[in-house]
Amino acid sequence: MWGSRRDGDDGPVTCIACGDEVPRDDAREYDKHGNRWERTDKQFEYLCKPCDRACCHQPRKGLESMLVDLGAGEVSREEFLARFHDATVEAQEHSD
Ligand SMILES: [Zn+2]
Repeated sequence: MWGSRRDGDDGPVTCIACGDEVPRDDAREYDKHGNRWERTDKQFEYLCKPCDRACCHQPRKGLESMLVDLGAGEVSREEFLARFHDATVEAQEHSD
Protein backbone atom coordinates (compact mmCIF):
# COMPACT_ATOMS: atom_id res chain seq x y z
CA MET A 1 0.00 0.00 0.00
CA TRP A 2 3.00 2.24 0.41
CA GLY A 3 4.41 1.38 -2.98
CA SER A 4 7.36 -0.85 -3.50
CA ARG A 5 9.49 0.33 -0.64
CA ARG A 6 11.99 -2.19 0.52
CA ASP A 7 12.34 -3.41 4.05
CA GLY A 8 14.98 -1.77 6.12
CA ASP A 9 14.57 1.75 4.89
CA ASP A 10 14.66 4.44 7.53
CA GLY A 11 12.62 7.10 5.85
CA PRO A 12 9.59 8.72 7.37
CA VAL A 13 6.72 6.52 8.41
CA THR A 14 3.03 7.24 8.53
CA CYS A 15 1.22 7.38 11.82
CA ILE A 16 -1.75 5.05 11.62
CA ALA A 17 -3.82 7.34 13.83
CA CYS A 18 -3.45 10.82 12.38
CA GLY A 19 -1.80 10.01 9.06
CA ASP A 20 1.12 12.34 9.66
CA GLU A 21 4.53 11.44 8.41
CA VAL A 22 7.03 11.27 11.21
CA PRO A 23 10.70 10.30 11.28
CA ARG A 24 10.98 6.61 11.95
CA ASP A 25 13.11 7.32 15.00
CA ASP A 26 10.27 9.34 16.47
CA ALA A 27 7.61 6.81 15.76
CA ARG A 28 6.58 3.91 17.86
CA GLU A 29 6.60 0.73 15.86
CA TYR A 30 3.46 -1.22 16.41
CA ASP A 31 2.70 -4.64 15.07
CA LYS A 32 -0.86 -5.65 15.64
CA HIS A 33 0.10 -9.27 15.19
CA GLY A 34 2.58 -9.09 18.04
CA ASN A 35 5.39 -10.52 16.00
CA ARG A 36 8.16 -8.09 15.28
CA TRP A 37 10.45 -10.63 13.72
CA GLU A 38 8.41 -11.85 10.82
CA ARG A 39 8.81 -9.13 8.26
CA THR A 40 7.79 -10.94 5.15
CA ASP A 41 4.67 -9.73 3.40
CA LYS A 42 3.67 -7.42 6.14
CA GLN A 43 3.71 -3.77 6.96
CA PHE A 44 4.41 -2.35 10.34
CA GLU A 45 2.13 0.17 11.84
CA TYR A 46 3.52 3.29 13.41
CA LEU A 47 2.21 5.78 15.87
CA CYS A 48 3.59 9.25 16.35
CA LYS A 49 4.30 10.16 19.95
CA PRO A 50 1.14 12.20 20.60
CA CYS A 51 -1.03 9.41 19.23
CA ASP A 52 0.96 6.82 21.10
CA ARG A 53 0.31 8.73 24.29
CA ALA A 54 -3.36 9.03 23.47
CA CYS A 55 -3.58 5.32 22.78
CA CYS A 56 -1.83 4.44 26.00
CA HIS A 57 -4.56 6.29 27.83
CA GLN A 58 -7.31 4.24 26.39
CA PRO A 59 -9.46 3.64 29.44
CA ARG A 60 -10.89 0.31 28.49
CA LYS A 61 -9.21 -2.34 26.42
CA GLY A 62 -5.66 -2.15 25.23
CA LEU A 63 -4.53 -0.68 22.00
CA GLU A 64 -4.27 -4.03 20.32
CA SER A 65 -7.86 -4.89 21.09
CA MET A 66 -8.92 -1.49 19.92
CA LEU A 67 -7.12 -1.88 16.62
CA VAL A 68 -8.83 -5.20 16.08
CA ASP A 69 -12.16 -3.67 16.92
CA LEU A 70 -11.52 -0.95 14.40
CA GLY A 71 -10.91 -3.51 11.70
CA ALA A 72 -7.16 -3.12 11.34
CA GLY A 73 -6.04 -5.10 8.34
CA GLU A 74 -9.60 -5.73 7.25
CA VAL A 75 -10.90 -2.36 6.16
CA SER A 76 -9.23 0.10 3.85
CA ARG A 77 -6.50 2.22 5.35
CA GLU A 78 -8.59 5.31 4.85
CA GLU A 79 -11.51 3.78 6.68
CA PHE A 80 -9.24 2.55 9.41
CA LEU A 81 -7.63 5.95 9.86
CA ALA A 82 -11.04 7.56 10.13
CA ARG A 83 -12.18 5.06 12.73
CA PHE A 84 -8.95 5.29 14.64
CA HIS A 85 -9.07 9.05 14.68
CA ASP A 86 -12.64 9.04 15.95
CA ALA A 87 -11.80 6.53 18.64
CA THR A 88 -8.76 8.37 19.94
CA VAL A 89 -10.41 11.79 19.83
CA GLU A 90 -13.41 10.48 21.69
CA ALA A 91 -11.19 8.90 24.30
CA GLN A 92 -9.39 12.17 24.86
CA GLU A 93 -12.58 14.16 25.09
CA HIS A 94 -13.97 11.75 27.65
CA SER A 95 -10.86 11.71 29.76
CA ASP A 96 -11.39 15.12 31.32
ZN1 LIG B 1 -0.32 10.45 14.99
